[in-house]
Amino acid sequence: MHTIWLIRSHEYSAEKFWEVLELLKTFQGPLQFRTQEKHLEIPQDQLEEVPFETIDLDSQKLEPMVVYEKISNSMVQYFEPPPSYHKVSWETIFDQCQEYRTSQRISENDFIVLLTEHSNEYGWFTAGDPKGQRNLFVHTAFWEHYTGSDHRYPVAYHVVSAVLKRLTFTNYSDLNAYLHKEARGCMNDFCAEKKKVSLKLRTADICPACMDLMDRRNVDRAVIRQVLSIIEGIRDQMLFKSRWKLDPKPPKLQVKGESKRIIFPDLGSLEVKFTPLEKTLFLLYLNHPEGIKLVELNDFKPELKRIYAGLYNGSDPAMVEVSIDSLSNPWKTNSASEKLSRIKSKLIHALGTDLAQFYYPKGENAEARKIEVEREWVEYSE
Ligand SMILES: [Zn+2]
Repeated sequence: MHTIWLIRSHEYSAEKFWEVLELLKTFQGPLQFRTQEKHLEIPQDQLEEVPFETIDLDSQKLEPMVVYEKISNSMVQYFEPPPSYHKVSWETIFDQCQEYRTSQRISENDFIVLLTEHSNEYGWFTAGDPKGQRNLFVHTAFWEHYTGSDHRYPVAYHVVSAVLKRLTFTNYSDLNAYLHKEARGCMNDFCAEKKKVSLKLRTADICPACMDLMDRRNVDRAVIRQVLSIIEGIRDQMLFKSRWKLDPKPPKLQVKGESKRIIFPDLGSLEVKFTPLEKTLFLLYLNHPEGIKLVELNDFKPELKRIYAGLYNGSDPAMVEVSIDSLSNPWKTNSASEKLSRIKSKLIHALGTDLAQFYYPKGENAEARKIEVEREWVEYSE
């Protein structure tokens, strides 16, 4: 088990930060992604302001991060480079992480991953603390503009790949000895050009040579499996979304097993976690394509009870009755509308607004709310 503390540096938006964290949390395994509420502030006097026109493109070539002018023409129209950007030294970044670790009493065994919009002295996407502490950073800016996708995917990808590299390699010379200078679609490709970053995300894999190496070095297989399921999940979600732009069909939904897990197989088996009561309401709406008004919920009490009795995991059967009474009585309690808004926000977090709209019960207050998706896209399985 490893705890990975994601930390936001102050200029990175809290909203984007939470979207990345929520995405990572949808994948189960020994890597536990957490956050402390407190963000980290890189001191103003440590920021070097660099005007864009001073970038020497030739000398930037070996830097794995950004050569802005190389963005393909089709993307230039979306992207105005800022007149200047802020650069920070690695030493400052990692010193700040270490101070944070001390002040928040984070164990030396836990990972800290700082997400920051600031560029860094060597222009890397992601790097680990050369002093050997488990401090890492991931650069969060401009991704939309050169992978052409949702910002969450490249950032989440680099979080897990940085952690796995830190677990595999002992230091930078060790890492350099194994990085692939020629891209082979492996996590350990050294990406000197942005175009290749996009390749890395699309092929999302670990090559057999790197698998062997990790085996020899006793990297926990459960960690490797989790990392693979995250990068495969991210790739599937990205591919689904880019196809979706051409052919907007909703993703399939699977309701699986006795506990009625809510899974989207097209999106890398993404699972949306509802509480038993939220799930009860969600399944009721799924059963009724015609829609249900809030005030009609009382008429569906027997069905609600039946669903909830199958999902209830507490020890007091009388609670089933109590909870369903309150869920189906919108005059007395807010239970149903609270749960509906939590269902909506969980789906939006997991699927993004564009895909989520097919799956949360939609409708104005007094009208019937319905889940829009055609029920042929919904499959019930063992
Ligand atoms: Zn490899």
